[in-house]
Amino acid sequence: MRTQYTFIDPTTLYADISSHPDDQAEPGLDAVLNDRADLGEKTYTGTGRLKGRKALVTGADSGIGAATVIAFAREGADVALAYLPQEQVDADRIAAIAREAGVTVALLPGDLTDKAYAKGLPDSAVAELGGLDILVNNAGKQIYHEDLETLPDEQFEETFTVNVHAMFWVTKAALKHLPAGSAIINTTSIQAYSPSDILVDYASTKATINAFTKALAQQLAPQGIRVNAVAPGPIWTPLQVTDGQPPEKISEFGQSTPLGRMGQPAELAPAYVFLASAESSYVIGETLNVNGGMPTP
Ligand code: NAD
Ligand code: MG
Repeated sequence: MRTQYTFIDPTTLYADISSHPDDQAEPGLDAVLNDRADLGEKTYTGTGRLKGRKALVTGADSGIGAATVIAFAREGADVALAYLPQEQVDADRIAAIAREAGVTVALLPGDLTDKAYAKGLPDSAVAELGGLDILVNNAGKQIYHEDLETLPDEQFEETFTVNVHAMFWVTKAALKHLPAGSAIINTTSIQAYSPSDILVDYASTKATINAFTKALAQQLAPQGIRVNAVAPGPIWTPLQVTDGQPPEKISEFGQSTPLGRMGQPAELAPAYVFLASAESSYVIGETLNVNGGMPTP
């Protein structure tokens, strides 16, 4: 059976998964994604790299966050999942898979635009897991819009609230719990450096997340807390079929990358594991690009 270590040609990997146009309402569900994405359910094989660790992951029910939860659990970490209440069916599925690894899994549904919920998340994770030493800020909002003059103020503000403000609120509230050796990992995007004309608000938040990561990394390094980011390219998740892209562009999603295809959430999880694990002890303020070969600064 294939694992993430199986020698394989990355151009032909996932030739069996296509991006069909889909029009789910926000936030979308992996459960009804057409074709199903690969979250590593059948392939991710742990080797104890996060044994005994305790992680909080936002946007943990689906896509990149869910693949990260599965990987963390199989590497031995207890995991708290944050997600929107509408995503309970996805969260329940991922929690069940993670529990099969024999770790503690906590479910913390809520809306990150609610400041009180966001600020309470680290306390809730600690109450459920008995500590916290990995924080993955991964929840994100992406809605395309062609024309700045009609871009609703509410959309601009909500994109910044979910992608940037909530990251700040959760991280700030987490710090008092994080011992030396902890890792904070933020999810940015190729959009931080190669912004699309129709993603002005979203791309701006992702550039902000990169700067936030690199500034905070310097501030927290002396305390032994490492802050890094992962920058995905085009990845097959519910984010894209809930107006993250125009529906007519979905079928060619990712084909312009040097690899010629979109990526799967399972291909992102090892980046989060590496940055969370003590093996990356000298990696600080880095953005790990996982994007099928698109050049980055
Ligand atoms: P996804 O839809 O599976 O995950 C996004 C999650 O964000 C949702 O599951 C939801 O739980 C959470 N979220 C959104 N609004 C929220 C709110 N108001 N309150 C609480 N949670 C909220 O999609 P994904 O692609 O896995 O996205 C994960 C991260 O990856 C995001 O930050 C996204 O910007 C980033 N990213 C994705 C791609 C891609 O191509 N899919 C590319 C670059 C970056
Ligand atoms: Mg989701």
